[in-house]
Amino acid sequence: MPGTYSTEAFEKEYTYTGKDLGAVWTKDKTTFRVWAPTAEKVFVHLYASGMAGAKDLIGRLPMQKERQGTWTAEKEGDVNGIYYTYQVTVGGKTAEACDPYARAAGAGGTRAMVLDLSSVNPAGWEEDCDPNAGKSVTDAVIYELHLRDLSMDKSAGIRYAGKFLGLTEKGTKTLSGIPTGLDHIKELGITHLHLLPVCDYGSVDETRPDIPQFNWGYDPVNVNVPEGSYATDPYHGEVRVKEMKQMVRELHKNGISVIMDVVYNHVYDAEKFCFNLLVPGYFCRTDEDGRYSNGSLCGNDTATERSMVRKYIVDSVVYWAEEYHIDGFRFDLVGLIDTETINTVIAEVHKKHPNVIFYGEGWTMDTVLTKEGYLLTTQLNASETPEFAFFSDTFRDALKGSVFKASEPGFVSGAPGLEETIQQCFMGMPFWCKSPTQTVNYTSCHDNYTLMDRISLSMPDTSFERKIQMNKLAAAIYLLAEGIPFFQAGEEMLRVRRDRSGTVVENAYDSPDEINCLKWDMLDKKEYYEVYQYYKGLIAFRKAHGVLRLREADEVKSHVLPVGGTEKNVAAFRILGGINGETAEEMFVVFNARRKKTKVSLPEGTWKVYINGEKSGTKALAAGVSGCVEIASISAEVLIKECE
Ligand code: CA
Repeated sequence: MPGTYSTEAFEKEYTYTGKDLGAVWTKDKTTFRVWAPTAEKVFVHLYASGMAGAKDLIGRLPMQKERQGTWTAEKEGDVNGIYYTYQVTVGGKTAEACDPYARAAGAGGTRAMVLDLSSVNPAGWEEDCDPNAGKSVTDAVIYELHLRDLSMDKSAGIRYAGKFLGLTEKGTKTLSGIPTGLDHIKELGITHLHLLPVCDYGSVDETRPDIPQFNWGYDPVNVNVPEGSYATDPYHGEVRVKEMKQMVRELHKNGISVIMDVVYNHVYDAEKFCFNLLVPGYFCRTDEDGRYSNGSLCGNDTATERSMVRKYIVDSVVYWAEEYHIDGFRFDLVGLIDTETINTVIAEVHKKHPNVIFYGEGWTMDTVLTKEGYLLTTQLNASETPEFAFFSDTFRDALKGSVFKASEPGFVSGAPGLEETIQQCFMGMPFWCKSPTQTVNYTSCHDNYTLMDRISLSMPDTSFERKIQMNKLAAAIYLLAEGIPFFQAGEEMLRVRRDRSGTVVENAYDSPDEINCLKWDMLDKKEYYEVYQYYKGLIAFRKAHGVLRLREADEVKSHVLPVGGTEKNVAAFRILGGINGETAEEMFVVFNARRKKTKVSLPEGTWKVYINGEKSGTKALAAGVSGCVEIASISAEVLIKECE
């Protein structure tokens, strides 16, 4: 069968084009529609509770075969809050499946729930909108966070530790009175909060909140349902929906847009995945011998090129944007998803929500497409998806060294020969992309080592003070670069991930909270607090200067001019104002990665210093600077020309 699924004849006959898949609730009746073109029989099972295996069947509705491979049934009356599954018989075999279009589910996600979605909207939801609407993607400053990491440490002082609601708490502080949690993120000045997967995943047992469990969550079960372990009550399906909406509302009220990390490239368990139970083998790519394609290295790859998988992904993203007011999507392993699917997602979301931003991991991977003529959404195909941005591993590795060789230094730790790469990346144009709107500039994310750990591993004999200088220099480079800046939560307070013996943990996807979570009390220490202030200053400076946030390659080329003749391990730029609301006539930027001072000649005129190795911000640190200037070792220096 899998081969047939990808034929034109099958798609012509069985591509459903309607928008009513799943359970559509009204006060008078609920209609169910499921796509199961190969099924012989389908029933809706109605349950009193959401618990898998509970013997509380309260109804069984036969479904009628309808158009384009779908089956429908109707239940009279108001059944808001009832749970359901589909029982399907294919080729004589009967299985019970959750609804792929489930909007809510019971604990563990095996039973879907009929839900009046508007009944759980928080106050002010009708007026709720993206606080950064109308801006460019290059105006975004993205902060990547695992929900639990924010609130699990005692020093966070957060009541709803590990929950959606933890992100709604204000006024939380460390012992010395420094803001934590939401207040910290707000004060830092980021525009977009990127949350690691918050849709229902399989690796955490939702029925055991009493035992410590942690997972990044890249193992989707129900892609349209919030994760139950992040709700105060995983058993009642409406609670997670309500609390996730509350979280979005509170973030929006605080000026922060919300980005979801979405995982459509593979599923937790291909055999048990609801879509595959309903239509065996449809959702995943298989090779000629029937083996799952495994470019994801997670056991299976999604067959995004099939029409009903594409529709499923498009419908899902549109749903999150529409129902939860999500402002951006980060696609996990997007290099496994075809470009037509990605472009359709973007076009459909942008019809009503033109501000939503999209980016992902565009690595080239070994996958088996089931149809010919499709391209995958990789960095190298960036020109095929002009409204989709990619993580710049070019920039990441140039700054701190390759993620595959932990002992290798990068530009900030003194590696030679990287000046030109840093220059191209700073201008928002690594070799694989020609527009600053398509490059996500970063040096740390949840994967691999934290920035501070990575610097320590490559520079074991360097003093703590030196390491901090390197960290600050890396931050200055990517936070001021053309493109879209992004960083892992805690990078601004020298986050490390160490086990009890002090060993650095690289792949912390299921490490305990104590390794992963943010240790807010570090901010009570002077060195850490100063780094935080430095990040805050860099972000404020970026926001104040339109010339650092250009959208077109041509604009960058005519305004961001690399300065030649500098010493090795130094990159410098003259940046000309008069564009994108920039008020400065001219800016001069030097990144000195040398262990010694370097000298650079300023263009004509007198200059004010706004950023140096110590401090950063929108207030001048020194004025009346001219001629040849000395730049301290391992530091950034940013000057603005004084008005005549
Ligand atoms: Ca789950």
